[in-house]
Amino acid sequence: MSKEIKGQVVSGKIALGPIHVFRKKIPVITSETSNDSKEELNTFLTARDKAIKELKILEEEANARMGEEEAMVFSVHGMLLEDLDFEDAVKECISAGHNASYAVKKAGEDLAVFFASMEDNDYMKERASDFRDIANRVICKIQDIEDGIKLPSEPVILLARDLVPSDTLGLDTNKVLAFVTTKGSTNSHTAILARSLGITALVDTGEEFGDDLTGQIGIVDGEKGIFIIDPKEDLLDEYRKRIKEIQKEEESLKSLIGEETRTKSGQTIKIYANIGNSSDAAKALEYDAEGIGLFRSEFLFLGKNDYPSEEEQFKSYKEVITLMKGREVIIRTLDIGADKQADYFGLPKEDNPAMGLRAIRLCLERPEIFKTQLRAIYRAAAFGPTGIMFPMITSIEEMEKILDLVDRVKKELKDEALDFGEAELGVMIETPAAALISDLLADKVSFFSIGTNDLTQYTFAMDRQNASLEPFRVPNHPAILRLIEMTVQNAHKKNVRVGICGEMGADFDLTKYFISIGVDELSVSAPKILALRKHVRELA
Ligand code: PEP
Ligand code: MG
Repeated sequence: MSKEIKGQVVSGKIALGPIHVFRKKIPVITSETSNDSKEELNTFLTARDKAIKELKILEEEANARMGEEEAMVFSVHGMLLEDLDFEDAVKECISAGHNASYAVKKAGEDLAVFFASMEDNDYMKERASDFRDIANRVICKIQDIEDGIKLPSEPVILLARDLVPSDTLGLDTNKVLAFVTTKGSTNSHTAILARSLGITALVDTGEEFGDDLTGQIGIVDGEKGIFIIDPKEDLLDEYRKRIKEIQKEEESLKSLIGEETRTKSGQTIKIYANIGNSSDAAKALEYDAEGIGLFRSEFLFLGKNDYPSEEEQFKSYKEVITLMKGREVIIRTLDIGADKQADYFGLPKEDNPAMGLRAIRLCLERPEIFKTQLRAIYRAAAFGPTGIMFPMITSIEEMEKILDLVDRVKKELKDEALDFGEAELGVMIETPAAALISDLLADKVSFFSIGTNDLTQYTFAMDRQNASLEPFRVPNHPAILRLIEMTVQNAHKKNVRVGICGEMGADFDLTKYFISIGVDELSVSAPKILALRKHVRELA
């Protein structure tokens, strides 16, 4: 029977197709002992063989889709699983009376710690994350848990209770028409990712989705914020027509590629893109972004089992900078914490993680991680115009510590005779404290980027993840507009440029206002660029 469900719109297109319900299972590992070592050993060996077979398939798929280099990780993992050191370590632990999952976890972790301690050998250090990865894969096989979100071969509307950023990051966009979640909020990083991937999405429906929905037809209407299950034939026809209209509208926007972003009276504003990886950058270029205003570098750290090495980061930054062919790329340094978690950081459990050891605070607490990232960015900066900006700044003292580290990194690179480029430095204005001292911060950097998502969260003391606060949110509240205006004025007095990279930058109701107060650049998700350019060109 047909059913209509309301949700919060994350990105506003229309999707129509079969439904697929995803239920996340997490491996449970207990230290419970086992009396049957033989059985545990069998369980391990069967799971390991399944994992090896799965890796072979993944290797072939990756080879066909992306090439030999990308497929290599799967063949290396296959070899490590066949390696006797790993097998012996698991067997030893099982003989000591442990269950198979525990033994695999322990063997993987022991080997990871051993390889991570090889200080002078980057190649060996990287093997640490490989051992955590393969252990996880085998444990999932032992407990019959699918790794990642397994999707059918035909594109589907994905229904889930909630998705974390690493789930969304791993989604194969060719196989997902849209997603709809029971929980979630429109300003979460999962929502932001969906926008930049161009996936139609609704969150916070409050509806628990039963497995029986898999296979039924659904419509996600991102314009009206509704999800329709099993629609009637005439409704399906209406939506098919609307999909065609949208495709036409999108096609006609392409005529704006290469055109100026200028109002009728001649005021200009730059339109940059927010990205999380190199495929977003390719999309940004396709939609004619004038630069990258926010590269959320922490996405390189999510969905992994260990820190990406300097080399790995260097490659990713260089790839984006090279792809952008001389257009500026602003890389935001690691903003991990709050809703962006990666287990290997071993972050302490906090009561209020959004107000905790997050972003720049974490980087200053763990300067080795921060320095590795800065080295990688400076080395990549040799390949094109680069900016580096720092998230969650609240004081001049933080900026001074950062500038000191930046000097040290540049000196190290020079002493090591490694090639590196220059980068402009910027501050993200995303705490009320930063906005209020923007006159002082302007002495330290060449640009500001206003992160309105966090600036809103912290100004109103309203958790951006908490959907139940929706009724309390006041659109375009004067408090936030005053902070923005004050920041722009303080910046311009000292020749500091100002961009807006939070979601407010894509709010058409504010574009005229942002231009009128002198904002220099708006950075939005790639699929929004041309529509925003059209809107600016229609303004008086
Ligand atoms: C912001 O806070 O507005 C911002 C752009 O950063 P993020 O959404 O990644 O926290
Ligand atoms: Mg932020």
